[in-house]
Formats: sequence, structure tokens, C-alpha cells
Amino acid sequence: MKGEVFYACGICGMIYERAEDARACESWCSAHGSCNTEITSRSVGSISRAEPRLRK
Ligand SMILES: [Zn+2]
Repeated sequence: MKGEVFYACGICGMIYERAEDARACESWCSAHGSCNTEITSRSVGSISRAEPRLRK
């Protein structure tokens, strides 16, 4: 059984199934200081709702 791996944006804490989405979010967040709704609409949750072991 494969473990599910998620990727978190280190800045806003949104979680993504795909690393490229998390990277896109992180680069957007660091450049603009806010989230891009086009990117965050692909997130599957936020770090505050995730299990503690879900870390970047
Ligand atoms: Zn972000």
C-alpha cells in the first residue's frame, strides 16, 4: 500500500497533492505576500487541519 504524500506551501500552509502546485503556491506567496486563488483552489486542505506528521 502506497503512502499518500502531500506537499505543503511553507508560507501559507496550504496542502497540495502535487509538488508542482505546492511549489507554485510557495513561489507566488513569497513573491506577492498573498495567495493566488487559482493555485489555492487546487489545494486539498491547510496545514492547520493536517495531521502533525504532515510536514514539508
Ligand atoms: Zn502558499
